[in-house]
Amino acid sequence: MDRRNFIKTGLLGAMIAASPISFSAFGEPTRSTGRSGKLNLRFRPYELQLRHAFNLARSQRTTTPGVQVEIEYDGIVGYGEASMPPYLGESIDSVCKYLNSLDLTQFNSPFAFEDIHEYMDSVAPNDRAAKASVDIALHDLTGKIMGQPWHRIWGLNPDNCPNTSFTISYDENPDELRKKIEETAPFKVVKVKMGTGHDKELVEAFRRVSDTPICVDANQGWNDREKALDMCHWLAERNCLFVEQPMDKAAIDDTAWLRERSPLPIIADEFLQRLPDVKRAAEAYDGINIKLMKSTGLHEAYKMAVLARSLGMKVMLGCMTETSCAVSAAAQLSPMVDWADLDGNLLIGNDIFDGMKIVDGKVTLPDRPGIGVVPLEA
Ligand code: MG
Repeated sequence: MDRRNFIKTGLLGAMIAASPISFSAFGEPTRSTGRSGKLNLRFRPYELQLRHAFNLARSQRTTTPGVQVEIEYDGIVGYGEASMPPYLGESIDSVCKYLNSLDLTQFNSPFAFEDIHEYMDSVAPNDRAAKASVDIALHDLTGKIMGQPWHRIWGLNPDNCPNTSFTISYDENPDELRKKIEETAPFKVVKVKMGTGHDKELVEAFRRVSDTPICVDANQGWNDREKALDMCHWLAERNCLFVEQPMDKAAIDDTAWLRERSPLPIIADEFLQRLPDVKRAAEAYDGINIKLMKSTGLHEAYKMAVLARSLGMKVMLGCMTETSCAVSAAAQLSPMVDWADLDGNLLIGNDIFDGMKIVDGKVTLPDRPGIGVVPLEA
């Protein structure tokens, strides 16, 4: 399938985004023998089906819109992905529109990360997930050209990969809630989504059956700093490791107040997106949660992790609901972080890649070049 037909398929897909498109929509072969010396970008919508409804502080949903990307150079294909949970403000339409506006054929080398990122930012200032999809595909492609996985290129030791947390959220249906809690059994850390008005109930239900350490993500759901501090003390007595985004991202002074008093580290998520935000975060938070869909991909995520470390901050690596493509890309960085929350591929029912694995609760990287993924057969 040529690029124009591929995009046409993509746009058709955008119109019928409610029904997922099979992986074969990419067309065969994904690996051509042509040596163009040019970067060829292809993409298509792919809606992620969540295995359980996500109950967050401010919304509930059962699917996440996504776009799958391929960049081909000299017969080698790199895979990338954009995932667009609604609060990020991107959509299948916006990502396809952005990717359509790119002309990567002007670059003669897929290694020109700085130039390509500068170009992508010049095309539009935001569209972070769209940029991440290109960045991930470029990392996969260049790693394959070098014959090495990115953790090795960065000099990271895969033995130092952290445990990943697995996320649960409250469910009004006790059977559903029990099922969600049972699914956490293989994990060494469990991330509890809060801010729904049932926060203590959820932790108590979990603690009745498990003593696994938890971390808490309030998703900006606590709007009173005194109450937030009470919760931090209450959680500290219940084997909680840290609290993510307790209050509104605009409530910087209240968050700094909380950080001064909290027995638990306070981590920024919604507050920060990209590299320039890291220094601002240091004023009110103990650490940052880096996600590729916010940071525009691995190139800037790596810089963010290095900067946060140099500022004495904790570093957490998170993800959206994603296939194993974007999750495995993030996992390449995981040996340099304190905490990983890389369960996005486990939360969907229609993954289309084989990649990183969770073994005994720990992020485990495959010894494959690039980001370490292979497409699953359709
Ligand atoms: Mg979060």
